[in-house]
Amino acid sequence: MTKLAERDARVRAAIEHEGRSARLFDYSVHLRDRVRPLPEDGLREAAEAVLHDVHELLVPREGQKLESSERFAILYDRLYARDALTRLTGSRMEVKRIEVSLSGGHPLAVCTGPWRTHKVVTVHGLTNVPLWYAGCGAVFPDSLNVRGGGRAWKDWCPLCSPEVANPARRLAARHRRAWA
Ligand SMILES: [Zn+2]
Repeated sequence: MTKLAERDARVRAAIEHEGRSARLFDYSVHLRDRVRPLPEDGLREAAEAVLHDVHELLVPREGQKLESSERFAILYDRLYARDALTRLTGSRMEVKRIEVSLSGGHPLAVCTGPWRTHKVVTVHGLTNVPLWYAGCGAVFPDSLNVRGGGRAWKDWCPLCSPEVANPARRLAARHRRAWA
């Protein structure tokens, strides 16, 4: 077994009891290994269940700020769930409709600033790591836009929104330059 396969097996064993997360972990491995066609068995159910779990986790935190460690764990789960559903349904807006529906019409966002990727060299080669760095981590009501023609998901809470807070925009620009 290669080192990478050993690591995959270790991670999988650690999360196996959380069936939904294990399925999304498999999905992330398939993407990484460019498996074609992507196995779809149980993926939709797992992705919807994870989106539901993330929402349930965020509900009692509305109006509060998430610590950066938990923010990453939650947002990575949601990222893969949204990505899987986008692939399966062929539409980001369909994913947004699913989120609005499973949240009872009150979807929640986390203030992250724009999502960017950062190239990281690992022992397994070059990989793109998603980063969120400029937002304050606040949990707040997400957009209800399910019709397209605009953004499906909000990146900034009302306080950090660049239209409202120029300092936040300057901060984001500074971070972008630093990471470029
Ligand atoms: Zn914010």
